[in-house]
Amino acid sequence: MSATLGFSCPICIGRHLDRVELANGHVYMCPGCGAKYPIVAGIVRFVDSDRYVRNFSFEWKIHRRTQIDSEGRGASVRNFYFRFGQKPEFFRGKRVLDVGVGAGRYADVALRAGAEVWGVDLSFSVEIAKENLAHFGNRFHPAQADLFNPPFAPESFDVIYSFGVLHHTPNPRKGFDALVKLLKPGGVICITTYPDYGMYYTSRHARKLTTRIPAPVLYALTTLFTVAFYFPYKYLGLRHGLMGRLLPMSMSNSLKEAVLDTYDCYSPKYQFCYAVHEVFDWFKENGLERVDARPQPTTVLGWKPV
Ligand SMILES: [Zn+2]
Repeated sequence: MSATLGFSCPICIGRHLDRVELANGHVYMCPGCGAKYPIVAGIVRFVDSDRYVRNFSFEWKIHRRTQIDSEGRGASVRNFYFRFGQKPEFFRGKRVLDVGVGAGRYADVALRAGAEVWGVDLSFSVEIAKENLAHFGNRFHPAQADLFNPPFAPESFDVIYSFGVLHHTPNPRKGFDALVKLLKPGGVICITTYPDYGMYYTSRHARKLTTRIPAPVLYALTTLFTVAFYFPYKYLGLRHGLMGRLLPMSMSNSLKEAVLDTYDCYSPKYQFCYAVHEVFDWFKENGLERVDARPQPTTVLGWKPV
């Protein structure tokens, strides 16, 4: 038996878990309520399925490294430091929580800066993140978990971020409130959500249909659509016409990223869009200080009072 690395029982808030060996493998067990959390493929699981995010489990299996390799990494690094308004030195040695870690593009940045990172996701993408970030050794702690029942004690983290994730949950505001509780006094939290304009907003009519299509079929359709219309949309102005308004498409720099982003837009079950001032209010109402919005669609950060 050994103490687990920073995870605690989501039922008995803050109760540390023990790693115990059973006949069929290792589990994390709560000494309070007796709940068992299995370790599958080296990752602790606090949920038994990927619930409403099957599309993301599928998406990251196909695009394991699209956002991590060379070109994608540059954008991740730029976004990360721009959103926090901090230099890499700030993150060294800090306890960082990545909520909705996906394939690990932003955890990669924090780990390179020298942070210790806990990366949670409701989808099976945590398995891809673990693979992509294996070279960081025991500074990265993945878990499959639900942010509404987080497996962490209150005030555990110096830094929390969730980029492009909360709007895919059934109640983004409630999810945000849950995250603030996990932040240490003096810590900083930064989130991005979709803005109330652009592709993610204008796709809302088409999404009523597309979100009912099984993931592999929808992926095939969005790939065909993107490959056929990416250049006419981009260079012949098609994106400004009726078709472009009804069926918006990602204009990412590469066709591969555009395929990923377009599927990403049409597939999630939940997809809320927010004006900056709405998210700003979440921070204020949670008593956060030095609240700041960044001129990148709906990015807000704030600090917990000491
Ligand atoms: Zn418990």
